Amino acid sequence: MKIYRARHGGFCFGVKRAIKLALEAADNSHGVCSLGPLIHNRLAVDDLMKSGIRSCDEIRGLKKNEIVIIRSHGVAPDVMQRLRSKNCQIIDATCPRVRRAQRYVEKLAGEGYHVVIVGEKDHPEVKGLLGYAGKRASIYNDNERPGKKKIGVVPQTTLNQERFNRAVTDLMPDTIEMKIYNTICQETAVRINEAVKIAKKADIMIVIGGKNSANTTRLYQICRKLRRSYHIESAGELKRSWFSAVKSVGITAGASTPKQQVDDVVRKIRRMFPRS
Ligand code: SF4
Repeated sequence: MKIYRARHGGFCFGVKRAIKLALEAADNSHGVCSLGPLIHNRLAVDDLMKSGIRSCDEIRGLKKNEIVIIRSHGVAPDVMQRLRSKNCQIIDATCPRVRRAQRYVEKLAGEGYHVVIVGEKDHPEVKGLLGYAGKRASIYNDNERPGKKKIGVVPQTTLNQERFNRAVTDLMPDTIEMKIYNTICQETAVRINEAVKIAKKADIMIVIGGKNSANTTRLYQICRKLRRSYHIESAGELKRSWFSAVKSVGITAGASTPKQQVDDVVRKIRRMFPRS
């Protein structure tokens, strides 16, 4: 069995940074809580719990004197304000690239543009970005255009470039003035490009990462268009039957998948097929 392992699978720069900041805080305190799971990976969140980092979805779920971690997705300014007014000690692990997108949104709103965010409406990063746009903003929806003449467009950092291009083209006819900040993060593009290359030469693809991770799910959807693909969270889900008449397997992972989970999958395949 030939194994093609993606060099760019696993934690992105922003997730690595957020985990490092959270672990440092946990080492130096008696309680750390992230506002929402620090990463979209159930097994990694369980491991973080063991290191003293819990998560809660609401500000009211925070305990007294707990240090609050803002995860890489960032939050809206009103959330930050509410935390400050509660005198919470905050560690802001917003990815610098997400922070840059927040600043662009704020700038566009300040210049009088109606801001259109292109991304997944329920994604925490998109909710945070929207908070920087004030009242004149909307999330791109291909069935309903904002109908404004002066718009500013900003994508979610993990958006696919082609999807962003289509949204911009779709918005164009209604506008007189359009200002675009392309904040798409290359970490995502690099992962996708490499996964596509591997999927073209491997017989099957294994995509590792949380079922609740948007970027892992997207990676899986792209791979399955090219090859028979499986989305798993851990090595325990691998099935021997998937490898029947298969000579090569491609392995990639989302931006929130720890290296350890990828290593476990590779090790298990090697055990199943000792000459891999
Ligand atoms: S994908 Fe890019 S923007 Fe998003 S957290 Fe990772 S490094 Fe930051």
